[in-house]
Amino acid sequence: MEKETKNLVLHADGDSFFVACELTLRPELQGKPVIVGEDRGIAVAMSKEAKKLGVTRGMPIFKIKKLYPEVVILPHHFDLYHEISSKMQQILLSYCQIVEVYSIDECFALVEPAEIKYFGNEKKFLTELKNEIEKTLKVTYSFGLARTKALAKQASKLEKPNGVVLLLSKDDEIEALKKTSIDDIWGIGKQTIPRLKNKKIKTAYDFINFSEVELEKYFSASLVDLQKELKGEYIFKVTDQADPRDQKSIQATSTFRPASTDSKIIWREISENAERACTNARELKLVTNKISFFIKTSDFKYYFEEIKIPLYTRDPGVILNALELKFPKILKVGKKIRSTGVILHNLFREENTPRDLFEEQIKVLENGKIEEVADKIRAKYGRGMIKRAASLKRKV
Ligand SMILES: [Mg+2]
Repeated sequence: MEKETKNLVLHADGDSFFVACELTLRPELQGKPVIVGEDRGIAVAMSKEAKKLGVTRGMPIFKIKKLYPEVVILPHHFDLYHEISSKMQQILLSYCQIVEVYSIDECFALVEPAEIKYFGNEKKFLTELKNEIEKTLKVTYSFGLARTKALAKQASKLEKPNGVVLLLSKDDEIEALKKTSIDDIWGIGKQTIPRLKNKKIKTAYDFINFSEVELEKYFSASLVDLQKELKGEYIFKVTDQADPRDQKSIQATSTFRPASTDSKIIWREISENAERACTNARELKLVTNKISFFIKTSDFKYYFEEIKIPLYTRDPGVILNALELKFPKILKVGKKIRSTGVILHNLFREENTPRDLFEEQIKVLENGKIEEVADKIRAKYGRGMIKRAASLKRKV
């Protein structure tokens, strides 16, 4: 009886979202191997036909052209993706009071018992919602419906694409968790997975049965919360006013006039973007280990570069030093540049920085011993590339 008085959490995840959006404008490509990512030089999204051929995410475009000449390769059209994404949000809002936009192709929503009752049961509710989305948007989503966000998120993955998975009883949950590998759990970092495997945790089911005390002691408090969520305790709230500390990326962009090919001007803009993004991260006490920057040319094409940093940081000096390595490459585009942007990805709350990385991680962050981080980067990227932030070319 209790089940009927409680809210459920819905998770919706777009199937091959960027490709699906492209197909709404080019229905003739339906059923063909299609990828998006030409402008980034790698496959970012693949149609199921492209996946079937063997194209994987991150595969370089030149390799795809060589191995699979039949694949249709498209650049990103972010305006189109955003348009479809916001329509999706509107549709969800006509069924649910609270909709949380998690990313461009993912939403959580709180489903109230009255809403389910209106349609008859959970299955009928989802069928109706799904039909409306497909008819209106011409793209498909996979859905998970469960007691918590973490469970709903796992559920939507289980029958992709075009899946509908309802976890309405404890038995459903256990069955789903047994099918979920520890590698595929939302919210467990890549560095943490091998350490959990060392503790003989192979599936999400093993994970919920692992000692909470040990989890807290050897891993992080956020994993304890995640474990509770997967056990069905509603901890992560669905909210339309997202906590800014939960954001996974911070972006700072600037457009300049006139468009320029002057590397000094472009670098100055990138530096300012990096500093702004870092200031934002500092205010929120967030750290990153992955950054990217992009330029947009005057003919509206985007070029991205992505860089991983061996430790978590938000120091603009460290970040600029890393960006500088890829700067010459992005300049090779040789076109007039209209705007630039810097994005900090993989954001972590400072207090949740994975403890398993390096012991000195915490020390570095606490003491602000930036030189130590710079040393790590030097070791990884080579000497001579690192300068202090103060010595960067700001005197343009
Ligand atoms: Mg998706």
